[in-house]
Amino acid sequence: MTASGAVWRNWARNEAVTPVRVERPSSVAAVQRAVVAAGKVGLRVKAVGSGHSFSGIALAPGVQLDLLDLAGLIGVDTVAGQVTLAAGTRLFELPRLLRPYGLALPNLGDVDRQTISGATSTGTHGTGGRFGGLATQVVALTLVTGDGTLLRVSATENAELLPAARLGLGALGIMVDVTLQCVPAFLLHAVEAAEPLEEVLEGYLDRTERSDHFEFFWFPHTETALTKTNTRQPLESGRSPLGRVSRWVDDELLANGVYRGICGLGAALPATVPGFNRLASRRSGKREFTDVSHRVFVTNRTVRFREMEYALPRAVVPDALREVRALIEARGWRISFPIEVRSAAADDVWLSTATGRDTGYIAVHRYYREDPAAYFQAVEAIMRAHGGRPHWGKMHDRDAASLRSDYPHFDDFLSVRDRLDPERRFNNSYLERVLGR
Ligand SMILES: Cc1cc2nc3c(=O)[nH]c(=O)nc-3n(C[C@H](O)[C@H](O)[C@H](O)COP(=O)(O)OP(=O)(O)OC[C@H]3O[C@@H](n4cnc5c(N)ncnc54)[C@H](O)[C@@H]3O)c2cc1C
Repeated sequence: MTASGAVWRNWARNEAVTPVRVERPSSVAAVQRAVVAAGKVGLRVKAVGSGHSFSGIALAPGVQLDLLDLAGLIGVDTVAGQVTLAAGTRLFELPRLLRPYGLALPNLGDVDRQTISGATSTGTHGTGGRFGGLATQVVALTLVTGDGTLLRVSATENAELLPAARLGLGALGIMVDVTLQCVPAFLLHAVEAAEPLEEVLEGYLDRTERSDHFEFFWFPHTETALTKTNTRQPLESGRSPLGRVSRWVDDELLANGVYRGICGLGAALPATVPGFNRLASRRSGKREFTDVSHRVFVTNRTVRFREMEYALPRAVVPDALREVRALIEARGWRISFPIEVRSAAADDVWLSTATGRDTGYIAVHRYYREDPAAYFQAVEAIMRAHGGRPHWGKMHDRDAASLRSDYPHFDDFLSVRDRLDPERRFNNSYLERVLGR
């Protein structure tokens, strides 16, 4: 145990808390002891991952559990292609851990700094019309519940809890391990291009259906979208990766280094934003390369930003984006960060943003030195009008009353929470807002 007093901040620097105490358990028994001890003195307790959520979901004003020492591979079922990981394992550790078994995760988001527990608990996703978010890969997990007992949830043990526990928002207990369904390791052939926005919008549904992993970025104030189309290939087909220098120039120097300067300038002098956005969207010529999957899915993001992302019925995405574009023009805002559009397959995880429907995602961002409130609130109104569901780990203003009708199993999830955490040991103010007391 470590005494606290130190302020904890999330990656985006928009959420902060000073926990009463911070504990760094290195065993499952120590996690159980921490939950029981917190209960005895009436403190709430919360595991924190890498702090990559933009919402206040990870704030732990009572006891903060840092599971950095509860990381690594616990077991592998080579026949089923399933791996069990300790809860604090970071996504960037997975390629090294899975390589000896020839396995990989079928899909990943934009970055790999998150913990496996944090990523699955908030519904982290990548893109691909036939692929679900990370929580859909969860086949089993072990939780420490509100009274400190260990609860195994799998297809054969407490199976009725699985649709809730796979994506539990940290509200059902402390995950100590998680078992994931993997796939044989694979390559991705990537094609990146700059294309006219309106053509991309018109082709979005078709390209999402035809491609394995299609997404695009649109820089506000331009007519251009940067598309990324990744096609899965067997390992044997051979890599042709980007050269180290070209990767560094494109992804580090231009996408991060120069971009940081541009965003900083844009925050001080908003009038410069449209010109820089036109430059940024033009600088990306066509790029084509083939590499192991995680090297293509994941990029390095060093420019700090704030984000809101909404999950929409996929068919409405083009119109919703056109409305956001009209909004930005009408309000005269200067938005330096691109809007990202992705997709996911319908799934059956109760609080997944893709539950029950094929989904498209629209994510809006602002540089962290700019106030995102007016932009995000106005975009949120558009998303709500289209039946949108907010990403649990990103900024939004929704509450339980408004979210209940978005999720057919909302009340079933609350019943599971009543069963596993009747005293609300794992609550914080974010969870009170989105789930109710
Ligand atoms: C630069 C950047 C890029 C991103 N890209 C994407 C993306 O491509 N796609 C996407 O969907 N999201 C993305 N996100 C959002 C991010 O993936 C999620 O917010 C994710 O939850 C962060 O994981 P974390 O480990 O940092 O968890 P934290 O933010 O620390 O915690 C998230 C939640 O998980 C809970 N939790 C953590 N560990 C446990 C545990 N052991 N047991 C129970 N609950 C636990 C916490 O209590 C909290 O409720 C991005 C965020 C950033 C900052």
